Amino acid sequence: MGRLRYKRIGVMGGTFDPIHNGHLVTAEEAWKQFRLDLVLFVPSGHPPHKEDRRSLDAENRYLMTVIATANNPHFQVSRMEIDRPGPSYTIDTIRELHRVYGKNTEIFFITGADAILEILTWKDPERILEECVFIAATRPGYDLRRLEESLPETERARHATDPRVLVMEIPALAISSTDIRRRVSEGRPIRYLVPEGVWEFIEKNGFYR
Ligand code: NAP
Repeated sequence: MGRLRYKRIGVMGGTFDPIHNGHLVTAEEAWKQFRLDLVLFVPSGHPPHKEDRRSLDAENRYLMTVIATANNPHFQVSRMEIDRPGPSYTIDTIRELHRVYGKNTEIFFITGADAILEILTWKDPERILEECVFIAATRPGYDLRRLEESLPETERARHATDPRVLVMEIPALAISSTDIRRRVSEGRPIRYLVPEGVWEFIEKNGFYR
């Protein structure tokens, strides 16, 4: 019940296939910059936009996320999307979190800028922007005009004074899950790109070969 005290929760949404140090740097930076009480990692169960590529099964992506975050006292991991049947829509996750933590808890949904573009082009972007603030993590050099152009008309006016989509440039996001999977398949090293325990878990289970 203690968790009901939280007032500002960061929600790290991602497929985490696999989780890497760029994700962890992003979460820690958001925690500090936005004075978050907690960062909750939410691995997606059934990504709605990933029909074309088979991800590693949700349970193993979840386990790697737990291993990666275990030693940080303000990081937690949720099974919410993994246990929910059907596609993992962000709006459902935000609403469930508001039910658990209360309407007054402010939710900061942290994810990659391209994923935010995709969420905002889905139906009802106005409604989702009422329910949470988005923190778009970008690699340096990302063209921010694409994000601004994706905002609904009503949101553009408000954006100057009360922005609901914030941008955080993270140099460590030069690391990417795609590159890590490719490296493993080519027998190249991933040590120091992912936490030690995650590297060992991938090796032990022979993932991505
Ligand atoms: P993605 O399309 O695989 O990733 C887009 C970009 O964002 C990639 O460069 C990715 O790098 C990066 N990224 C992903 N998660 C990140 C994070 N937490 N922090 C920093 N960078 C991140 O996106 P995805 O992982 O499948 O989805 C991201 C989140 O958006 C998930 O929670 C997903 O459920 C949600 N989403 C929802 C909808 C919807 O509700 N309709 C649609 C799309 C996405 P890496 O590959 O290195 O992570």
